Amino acid sequence: MAERAGAGADSDVTCSNGQGACCVFDVDGVFRLGHLSVPGATGALASLREAGVPHVFLTNTSASPQASSQELAHALDGTYVDPADIIVSHSPFQDLLSPFRVSERPILVVGIDNVSAGDVETLYHIPHAVSTDDVYRCLPASCVPALAGIHSPANDEGVMRDAHAQFAAVAVMADSNNLTRDMQLVLDALRFDGHCHPDDIRQFLDNGGDDRRQHIPIFFANPDMVYGAAHPAPRLTQGCFRLMLESMFKALTGQALDVVQAGKPSAISYEYAAGLLRDKGGAGSVFMVGDNPASDIRGANRVGWTSCLVRTGIGARVDTETLPEEDRPAMVFPTVVEAIAHIVKVHTGKV
Ligand SMILES: [Mg+2]
Repeated sequence: MAERAGAGADSDVTCSNGQGACCVFDVDGVFRLGHLSVPGATGALASLREAGVPHVFLTNTSASPQASSQELAHALDGTYVDPADIIVSHSPFQDLLSPFRVSERPILVVGIDNVSAGDVETLYHIPHAVSTDDVYRCLPASCVPALAGIHSPANDEGVMRDAHAQFAAVAVMADSNNLTRDMQLVLDALRFDGHCHPDDIRQFLDNGGDDRRQHIPIFFANPDMVYGAAHPAPRLTQGCFRLMLESMFKALTGQALDVVQAGKPSAISYEYAAGLLRDKGGAGSVFMVGDNPASDIRGANRVGWTSCLVRTGIGARVDTETLPEEDRPAMVFPTVVEAIAHIVKVHTGKV
């Protein structure tokens, strides 16, 4: 175990100063390695619970907390994890999207089919969310078919209730399943005051509407540009869509796109986690245990938590000596088992 001086300073999102400890865990690469679980992790989590250490899980997955709970239970020999204790990449939308709960205008959602739009409605209590899939099915003329890549868009049973819907905001919940089409629809909504229907856009322009500025907000769930998978090279993910969208918006309008970014390492997600820990009675030192220096560790360092790198997952290949200062962990452990053993000692005053 190595320690670095200077980390773990207090910050606004640190739980109240006092005795004890509480902790935030990454999931993939910490408790789970692909389809395998980290040896001893189940027993370690049980000891943490037995010691009464308040804890939550913070992951950049796009899955729902319920689905993540089931996956985590599978990796932990059936151990139940309350979905309320799992913060996924879009969990901060609970607060961020709350102003739109009373809006009569729907939210435009980028993600996989209707799953993501359904999550916006059920998880975040938005009356009406519409996926880009549904917009395209309803408004095939919105995109060049060859670019959209969908050749049978007609669907009378689409869930877009109003073809002339004026969107209030854009929520990027998960990876786009059609980058060019989604770029087109999102850019239209941003530039034409929430409109995607060609007739509405024409009217907007005829009325002198300003298409060189951003009219509605856009929220992103996961900032990761790439992720590790079975493939030998990292694969592209949501941050890639954001980068392309920002570039296109700048090219078309000359303006910088104003985005609200959730997910690790954004402070929004760490503040959300701190709020949950406070609700659970968390106090004293906050430990963040993760395997990704650029995500788990960077975010924890920014908010003044004690960042703990585990040598599993991505962390197995990390040379901490060559990491940028902001990505250097305060502590390094072989696995989550040793990390939890240390945290329990701190919580019980044995360190
Ligand atoms: Mg991880």
